[in-house]
Amino acid sequence: AVKENEPERMPPLPSAKGRKKSVVPQELNKGNKRLSSIIKPFDMQTKRGKFGEASRPNQKFYDMIQEFRETLEITPLSTGDLIEPHRISVCVRKRPLNKQEVAKKEIDVVSVPGKGTLLVHEPKQKVDLTKYLENQIFHFDYSFDESATNDLVYKFTAKPLVQSIFDGGMATCFAYGQTGSGKTHTMGGNFTGKQQNSAKGVYALAAQDVFTYLNHRRYTNLDLSVYVSFFEIYNGKVYDLLNKKAKLRVLEDDRQQVQVVGLEEVYVSSTEDVIKIIQMGSACRTSGQTSANANSSRSHAILQIVLRRNDRATTLHGKFSLVDLAGNERGTDVSSNDRGTLVETAEINRSLLALKECIRSLGMNSDHIPFRMSTLTKVLRDSFIGEKSRTCMIAMVSPGMTSCEYTMNTLRYADRVKELKGSSKASG
Ligand code: ADP
Ligand code: MG
Repeated sequence: AVKENEPERMPPLPSAKGRKKSVVPQELNKGNKRLSSIIKPFDMQTKRGKFGEASRPNQKFYDMIQEFRETLEITPLSTGDLIEPHRISVCVRKRPLNKQEVAKKEIDVVSVPGKGTLLVHEPKQKVDLTKYLENQIFHFDYSFDESATNDLVYKFTAKPLVQSIFDGGMATCFAYGQTGSGKTHTMGGNFTGKQQNSAKGVYALAAQDVFTYLNHRRYTNLDLSVYVSFFEIYNGKVYDLLNKKAKLRVLEDDRQQVQVVGLEEVYVSSTEDVIKIIQMGSACRTSGQTSANANSSRSHAILQIVLRRNDRATTLHGKFSLVDLAGNERGTDVSSNDRGTLVETAEINRSLLALKECIRSLGMNSDHIPFRMSTLTKVLRDSFIGEKSRTCMIAMVSPGMTSCEYTMNTLRYADRVKELKGSSKASG
């Protein structure tokens, strides 16, 4: 009888490895009273929710999440917060529910209490149909909630990397996540309807800072010029977005230097120049597509801001690669019977796997960089080597309950990218 009155227990913790844990916040463990307010047996649930209308599908989960949120201490990130320098930083950004999701009364299952923390309230059901939440907690370098602007995200992610390219290093910034989670919004600029505000994306914000540094007294005697290239990798092939999607070859010389043969590199002298190029390339990327997300969700787009010395050979000084990755769900979808789609899926899967491994070897200062695994990592090879290389991954998540599984995949991947930083231990 005692057992029946006991609140539902959280499922056992998965192995405590890594930084992801299934949790009850500490204070919730102290008294059963508070725990029971989070997870009640099915028949004790109030019929009508305290929040929102009762007509909502999955009202019960909604109520449970709201009650959980009331116990959370929220410390939102603000522009004044300290930016710590990282060689590899991994961040997460949650987008708001969109109009359609709100109309469908989709439930927001992601909470961002701040300080790099993010929680997923995973709705679960027992065999006896008792509903409960599995609250998964993740820790990253920074976590951005739905109210964060591109400016704020930029400030803590790509901005700290700009200086490194002036110091002769390579920088990369990746937008990773499910299709529709906000990768292009973050990198290319926020949308107003179909119109994208290119000046307000990470691409343009980074370009702006590049020009600021270029005119900085400290760097003027380097005599540098700025160039931009913009290309797409689709099915392992490179297409130039600044040259009508011309298909380009990727060659590796005997010194392991990788070259994209014939890639357009446009000289730019202002942020406005770069914005024009972003618009041109983005239009080229989506042209000839039936739906806005059809092909772009299956390809990686890479904008490179290149610093070259104004010498005869226009020697490479530094390079910032900003990457809008293919939707990660595209790497796991095996529902299709179409051979072409399956090959595409395998290629995306391989490239995202290779990317993770390459960033991890950078983190471990490993001599062996598995860059040959995919075109994406081949093209970015020089970004994974050297003392001065810096990388930032922004994992984007959709807040909806229906995206929960994809969200968990995204977060697990992001977690793995950094997990072994500085450690030599390795496992699959
Ligand atoms: P992805 O490139 O990951 O497929 P998009 O960047 O195209 O996703 O975003 C999908 C939709 O969600 C777009 O309409 C975009 O404007 C919107 N969106 C994404 N992130 C945000 C955000 N942080 N705030 C407001 N709207 C967003
Ligand atoms: Mg996109």
